[in-house]
Amino acid sequence: MDISTTCFSSVSDFCSDCGSVLPPPGIQDTVTCLRCSHRTHVTEFLGKCVQTSVVFNKLDTIKLSNETEEAGELKGPLIDRRCSRCGFERMAYHTRQMRSADEGQTVFYTCVNCRFQEKEDS
Ligand SMILES: [Zn+2]
Ligand SMILES: [Zn+2]
Repeated sequence: MDISTTCFSSVSDFCSDCGSVLPPPGIQDTVTCLRCSHRTHVTEFLGKCVQTSVVFNKLDTIKLSNETEEAGELKGPLIDRRCSRCGFERMAYHTRQMRSADEGQTVFYTCVNCRFQEKEDS
């Protein structure tokens, strides 16, 4: 068998003439039916294979873009502050009011370089 076999392992293809299950394609560009010798061109199989992988790629892309949106968003103005993780001296900061009115604002700092986030209560 060759490398392309894995691609078709889950797909059963049938001879359009007699309906027999066709053997997996080898190095030749046609598959010959074992029963009636009808020949099917391999590009017909390849079309199915490409369609399947496009669907998988789409799912991967959606998943990845969601992850990048959640992580590493820079909010607010940039200030000179040393990141305690990577030592880069520029961070973005934004404030957020905590739920309780007794507690003051919390300042969030996000490192421009490595997206490390730290918070500080004022
Ligand atoms: Zn056949
Ligand atoms: Zn950093």
